[in-house]
Amino acid sequence: MDTAKESLRSLRHCSTRRDNKGFSRGRIPLEYLVEMHERSVAKNLLDIVLHNANKDGKKYKIKTINIVIGQFTMINEDLLVDSFYQLSQSTLAENATINITHSPLEGRCQDCQRKFKIDKNVFQCPFCNSHNIQIVSGDELFVQDIELLC
Ligand SMILES: [Zn+2]
Repeated sequence: MDTAKESLRSLRHCSTRRDNKGFSRGRIPLEYLVEMHERSVAKNLLDIVLHNANKDGKKYKIKTINIVIGQFTMINEDLLVDSFYQLSQSTLAENATINITHSPLEGRCQDCQRKFKIDKNVFQCPFCNSHNIQIVSGDELFVQDIELLC
């Protein structure tokens, strides 16, 4: 069994935009919104891996999908994986194993320019106590690579 690794472009995770088309005016249940969000991320993931499931001009079944999820994405991983399995039925990604790596939440102080890990969501520079922090890692979600079943 031979496997091929494909480098994939990154998918920036958008945590604020929500598509509420199809709803009449009024309240949308939060649970539904959250579920819809994970589902749309799963759909994006599926599109990306299916787009990359080819080698030598042929399409192959996908064996493994390695994704990186930042600690700060607030994504419900169980929901994401469930949605992915549902959406990928009868596609080349059906029954693929999904491995998730977590990237730590890191910030850079805009005052002293030092980089550090952010623990327990304390957004303060440990060197100069500034609150002027830019997040440099931990808010991303992307496909690292996939393994094809050849
Ligand atoms: Zn600082």
